[in-house]
Amino acid sequence: MSILCPYCGKEAALTTGNMIYPTRPDLAHKKFYRCRPCDAYVGCHGNTDRPLGTPANRELRGLRNRAHATFDPLWKEGDKQLFNDRTGAYKWLSEQLGVPRSECHIAMFNIDQCKKVVELCGRAHTPSADLIDLERRVDELRGEQPSASLLNTARAASYEARGMGWGAW
Ligand SMILES: [Zn+2]
Repeated sequence: MSILCPYCGKEAALTTGNMIYPTRPDLAHKKFYRCRPCDAYVGCHGNTDRPLGTPANRELRGLRNRAHATFDPLWKEGDKQLFNDRTGAYKWLSEQLGVPRSECHIAMFNIDQCKKVVELCGRAHTPSADLIDLERRVDELRGEQPSASLLNTARAASYEARGMGWGAW
């Protein structure tokens, strides 16, 4: 398989984990495509020589890691989980980014796409939390016979939060 380095356009060499991560014996036999002059590399699926995505330099690797760190908790079990499974989460991500599902893999993303993932996933919880808070405030205001204008302000803010595209949650 011929994998080109996206930075210099030359062919990336197939190598193994021990050449890239000397301190990670668990990765020693994993395959990687690397362009040494550009310090760009990408791992492969399982034990195959099929790359997970495109070779990435240090900056892009860092951003891909950050993207995974913000995206993965949305489908993994825990207090940040919003999706039942990975498939559902990637479907949502592909819609949000406007990237076809088949190309929607963090290992394929460029810097801008990774930044967008971090932003999207970071925001994913906030609106719903805001919404609950605002609705509680509306309820409180109702109990206190608030003025119409005060109630409308709280409602408008609540609708605004819904309008951010997270209404389905
Ligand atoms: Zn290169």
